[in-house]
Amino acid sequence: RAKEPGAPLLCRFDPQMDEASRARRALARDLREAIRRGQIDLAFQVQACVQSGVAVGFEALARWTHPVLGRIPPGDFVALAEGTGEIDRLGELVLRRACCQAALWPGRQRVAVNLSPLQFASGRLPALVSEVLRDSGLPAARLELEITESALIEERRAAIAQMEAISRMGITFVLDDFGKGFSSFGTLRSFVFGKLKIDRSFIAGVGESAPARAVLRAMVALGHSLGLNVLAEGVETESELAVIRAEGCDEMQGYLIGRPVLPGAPGAPDNIS
Ligand code: C2E
Ligand code: MG
Ligand code: MG
Ligand code: MG
Repeated sequence: RAKEPGAPLLCRFDPQMDEASRARRALARDLREAIRRGQIDLAFQVQACVQSGVAVGFEALARWTHPVLGRIPPGDFVALAEGTGEIDRLGELVLRRACCQAALWPGRQRVAVNLSPLQFASGRLPALVSEVLRDSGLPAARLELEITESALIEERRAAIAQMEAISRMGITFVLDDFGKGFSSFGTLRSFVFGKLKIDRSFIAGVGESAPARAVLRAMVALGHSLGLNVLAEGVETESELAVIRAEGCDEMQGYLIGRPVLPGAPGAPDNIS
């Protein structure tokens, strides 16, 4: 095969290269091929208003089925793409597809797309986002971009200016997995967000634990005092739902109300009204 920029020339002959890194390299090659061919699917998971139960949005979650290895978890292939420089192409594919599909949903719910912080590295994210909105016809108010806090630390300076530019287009940034990282408060002070997603580790078991509930209450109060919408992620049980409702969470997402589903399936955004 032709040599590619950045690939070590010795890889086939280096005796130090072990089986694991050879497998990783092969997987990276397969992922790149899948991205080029558009063989990444999007599953959608419903987000609902806690008080009314109405579906207000769907999170787009990338899915890759390897021809031999089967389904690869998104955490794994997103990290792989981040390591090989394919993340911009993967991110663009997901963003374009999510916006084009959402523009056609009968219910006009919002679509939430996950961003890797490395997508800020090129400086071209604001231009891409505005191009995708124009191409898809999706109104900016229907797009949300989710970013995890721990990840933002690395691309901090580049990210702030670009997030502000994208926010001015009318798009909402969502702080994903809130509470799980190390810099929750600092992140809230210096970045523009419109919504907090409380990490599911803070929701699990909250119906049975008074301390867990006190922590959740404080997180909701923090979000609301900053004027943010607060979404509880990973809601799995009725008792968790009862607590997040009583504590004033605005929105919820989780297996209790819907698993991620492919378009066309029951409960998919193109298949309900
Ligand atoms: P995330 O953004 O926090 O997405 C939520 C994850 O929690 C999803 O896992 C979802 O299936 C899972 N989940 C939702 N409700 C429940 C629940 O009630 N219980 C439990 N146990 N889990 C629940 P998934 O689809 O495996 O995605 C994992 C992570 O991969 C995502 O976490 C996100 O960080 C990343 N990811 C997925 N798609 C993309 C993408 O297109 N781009 C980027 N950069 N990252 C992505
Ligand atoms: Mg997310
Ligand atoms: Mg999350
Ligand atoms: Mg999460």
